Amino acid sequence: MTDTVKYLLDEADIPKQWYNIAADLPEPPTPPLHPGTGQALSPSELEPLFSRGVIEQEISTERYIDIPEPVRDIYRQWRPSPLFRARRLEQALDTPARIYYKYEGGSPAGSHKPNTAIAQAFYAREDGVKRLATETGAGQWGSSLALAGSMFGLEIDVYMVRVSFDQKPYRRAFMESFGANCFPSPSDRTNAGRTVLAETPDSRGSLGIAISEAVECAMERDDTKYALGSVLNHVLLHQTVVGLEALRQFELADDYPDTIIACTGGGSNFGGIVFPFLGHQLRGGEAVDIVAVEPANCPTLTRGKYAYDFGDTAHLTPLVKMHTLGSNFVPPGFHAGGLRYHGMAPLVSQCTDLGYVTASAYDQKACFEAGLEFARAEGILPAPEANHAVVAAMEAARACKVSGESRAILFNLCGHGHFDMPAYMDYSAGRLHDQQYNEEDMAMALAGLPSVAG
Ligand SMILES: *Cc1c(COP(=O)(O)O)cnc(C)c1O
Repeated sequence: MTDTVKYLLDEADIPKQWYNIAADLPEPPTPPLHPGTGQALSPSELEPLFSRGVIEQEISTERYIDIPEPVRDIYRQWRPSPLFRARRLEQALDTPARIYYKYEGGSPAGSHKPNTAIAQAFYAREDGVKRLATETGAGQWGSSLALAGSMFGLEIDVYMVRVSFDQKPYRRAFMESFGANCFPSPSDRTNAGRTVLAETPDSRGSLGIAISEAVECAMERDDTKYALGSVLNHVLLHQTVVGLEALRQFELADDYPDTIIACTGGGSNFGGIVFPFLGHQLRGGEAVDIVAVEPANCPTLTRGKYAYDFGDTAHLTPLVKMHTLGSNFVPPGFHAGGLRYHGMAPLVSQCTDLGYVTASAYDQKACFEAGLEFARAEGILPAPEANHAVVAAMEAARACKVSGESRAILFNLCGHGHFDMPAYMDYSAGRLHDQQYNEEDMAMALAGLPSVAG
């Protein structure tokens, strides 16, 4: 057998429908609640924030939802994405495990995020929206929405977490190349931003703060809606193209994963690869071990509470039931910026609560070490976020060496690290440290959770 093994599908095999896990869960998804009254939100109450197409998907319990042809047509530029068998890595680890990875770094923005950005921009244009406001952590979501906005003729305003704005000037340049506006957050453009700056002038920012700014911006203008790159049901739905393709590719490989691993920031690349397989299991098909991997210093699933909480710092968003560290928790400024969120997708939280998912956490140095070992074997330098999946997959493969078991391990290589070279330079120069989050801050943020039933 040759060492480069990849499973490719034809363009015609790009899924025609997204998969909705809500149809197969043993209990209904938890509803979002009004931030003021604590009552379940009606779809019309979400309309100031989101376009109608995505609201419909947010509450849908249909198993399959058609992908609009204009969206599929743009997907064609980089989809179907390849599934690789990591033969060289297997040899380097001397493991009997069969390691596979689905590579989402081939999209024009370098990650899985355009899978939903394109869809969200499509539904916004359908709804007559002129402008989308959003937040971005590491810049991948802002880049993806900037790209999608340019394809559908929408204006894009991006609030970028300050620490990433400073660490990743190329991300800002990328967004501006597509005509988007990019502001460091906290900014003085919104009440939410000004409030934080008054208390903490040198704030590093957080996704929670940036979301508040973008939501405020969307609520102020009728022609502007808000777009979120992760967490919500419709975002995870759009990402299921990843897992649906992988299911077909495993047929080509005449194999089936025993373990599926993905990193979790807000849960979208995880839900995207996992849910089609989990749905198959819930409908009586093969069972899989599912592993969510998060950073040790933003340990939402491993240390957080499963409770209703706000999605943002200024408490403008609906309340959703999720694993959370508290909406005022600001994690240390580590390099996997896409994983610095205090909450988790409600659907991922629910699946974890139901016992379908095992959560684990790793320090960033171990992640970079694994990422480099992977790169030297497979020739792709992963994004720092993706390194969390890489380190867990390698550990699972090493465990197979010890036990002698030959398991099939699939992980989502959700993005490349070409915009993250300063982080790799820091790692190689020994400048990267495993900072601990502040236990007291976390306890305080958790104590401040809103009190609502459920
Ligand atoms: C945004 C991002 C993440 C984190 O978001 P999820 O919704 O958890 O997928 C992880 N990896 C990459 C490459 C990202 O761009």
